[in-house]
Amino acid sequence: MESNNISLKNKILVSVILGAFLILSVSSIVSISTVTGQEEEMAYQQSIEMTKNYANYFDGNARKNQAIATTISTAMSNYDSADRNEVNDMLKGILLENPQLIGVYLGYEPNAFDGRDADFIGTEGHDGTGRFLPFWNTINGPISVEPLEDYETSEYYQLPKELQQTVVIEPYFYRGILVVSYVSPIMRNGEFVGISGVDVSLEYFDEIMSNVTAFESGYTFVTSNSGILLSHPEHKEWIGTKKLDDFGVAEISEMATDIRDGKRGYIETIDPDNGREVVMFYEPINGGTYSFVLCAPKDEMLAGVTVLRNRLLFMSLFSIVLVGGVAYMVGRSTDQTIKKMLDDFRLISDNALTGNFDTRADTNVQIDFKKIPVGLNQILDNMGKLTKENEKAMDALLHAKIEAENADRTKADFISNMSHELRTPLTLIIGFSDILDSEHYGALNEDQKKYTSSVLKNANHLLELITDLLDFSNTEVGTMELHSNDFSAADAIDEIEALMIPIVSEKDIDMTYNVDIAAPTIKADVIKFKQILYHLVNNAIKFTDQGGSVVVGGKVSDESLHIFVKDTGVGISPENLDKLFNPFYQVDASSTRGYGGTGLGLALVRKFVEMHGGEVWVESELGEGSTFTFAIPTDQVADKE
Ligand code: ADP
Repeated sequence: MESNNISLKNKILVSVILGAFLILSVSSIVSISTVTGQEEEMAYQQSIEMTKNYANYFDGNARKNQAIATTISTAMSNYDSADRNEVNDMLKGILLENPQLIGVYLGYEPNAFDGRDADFIGTEGHDGTGRFLPFWNTINGPISVEPLEDYETSEYYQLPKELQQTVVIEPYFYRGILVVSYVSPIMRNGEFVGISGVDVSLEYFDEIMSNVTAFESGYTFVTSNSGILLSHPEHKEWIGTKKLDDFGVAEISEMATDIRDGKRGYIETIDPDNGREVVMFYEPINGGTYSFVLCAPKDEMLAGVTVLRNRLLFMSLFSIVLVGGVAYMVGRSTDQTIKKMLDDFRLISDNALTGNFDTRADTNVQIDFKKIPVGLNQILDNMGKLTKENEKAMDALLHAKIEAENADRTKADFISNMSHELRTPLTLIIGFSDILDSEHYGALNEDQKKYTSSVLKNANHLLELITDLLDFSNTEVGTMELHSNDFSAADAIDEIEALMIPIVSEKDIDMTYNVDIAAPTIKADVIKFKQILYHLVNNAIKFTDQGGSVVVGGKVSDESLHIFVKDTGVGISPENLDKLFNPFYQVDASSTRGYGGTGLGLALVRKFVEMHGGEVWVESELGEGSTFTFAIPTDQVADKE
């Protein structure tokens, strides 16, 4: 569609809305993605922090338990009393004070405690070796003491002995309870004398863990560094048995590798337990002995981001709608201003058509358009002035025209009266001289005959001149009328031919009539038709020397007549050709004087032809002759002036 056909309002609307839409969309996309990107990062960071905090908490617990083991070992290193009862009381007290512990114990090398192992063989809290191996525990319910078992083969005894440093024993089942042990070597004078340890039930982990929630439905668990689940809120049967690798999920196995290496991090995966998209954050506890895992459903974790994104989207859409609304209002107000101006213009033009230039456009419009009605009003002011001047001039012209017409009419009346006054005596002169010339009332002598003929000839010529003058005067003042009738063109041509015979034979001119008459009758003004032909043939004979030739040719049909008169006469020079039809114009005054005439013939010919709605023209060459042609439509000639 051509842009001019679109309304200004729509153009403004489309361009502003499109522009605003583009700008706002781009800025919205950029800001939404930036802000939500930052928010997302923050959500991850928060989860990482949360994971760290929990891990720290458990780390603290682990260190506390470990500290109990090392404190006992330090105390025992410096203990000299060698009182088994006293030490038992102390161990029992520690167990009672620390409910997270299920066992507190000491294990001495043979005779390393008091050198009196033999005295204690088989007594309470001793085995068959009599070694000081008190294991205070609450495994069977009430607090009791019994000797340690399997110390010769188990890690909990052999590892600290070998490494001579505190160790954490990987979770293991002890009498059906999953246990983790913190064991420190007791050194005396640089020599290993035994161990002190505490056992913590992993049920304790699980109890705490199961109460920890992450977001709405997220959960947490702890794994050993070998990937064994040490807690789980739902699947208790997995505790101590299921390994991370057992899930067969690539991302979870990657996490297991990191956990083994004591690294922190997070993975994004599908929770094999419930099929939800989750992010699992993991953080080592106690120097990598365990790992804390926080499993956060991604949608919950990013809920804030989604809300924010939706809010930003809503704000962007709202802005776009708002800008669109403003654009619509601007477009509408512009449109209404233009409409108001157009209404004013229409009123002005309607009034102007009735000649009233006093209406003015309302200039109380928007500042941007103000110049238009102001300019229009200025134009109207000037036009008003001009119109007044024009009216004055028109009045003057009208006045002059009426005066001229009056003068014309007076002139026409005068000519008409004069012609009449001249023609009456002239007709008498012609009539009487014709009678005399015919010798009806007696024979004339030679001189009488000569003078009578001369009188007759000149009187006829004079009558012709007067007739031409009268006709021309009538055409000039508009009193000449066209009277169309059906007549025979052949008859009219024959009449002219007959009329010309005397002058043709007098000048010995070869005269030919060769008009193709295709219509028996035509509709035209017969008198004027004959006058046209008469003037053209008369001129042709007049301006052709003795012995020359004149041809009247052409065609007359139902639709039109087209007649030419061609002579071999004096011809006309090019510069005179277009002046011939002017009234009173004669090419050469001196020579035409010889030919006679008034210079009115061709002017009349043109008038008569034009009254018929036709045309007349001439082609000529000096010394070669001339061809005058006229064409008239014969089928639609209506009566007209
Ligand atoms: P006039 O009464 O002088 O013949 P016209 O109006 O009939 O007046 O002709 C105007 C002039 O045009 C003539 O005076 C003559 O100079 C020129 N003219 C007209 N017809 C012819 C012709 N057939 N050959 C040469 N000149 C012509």
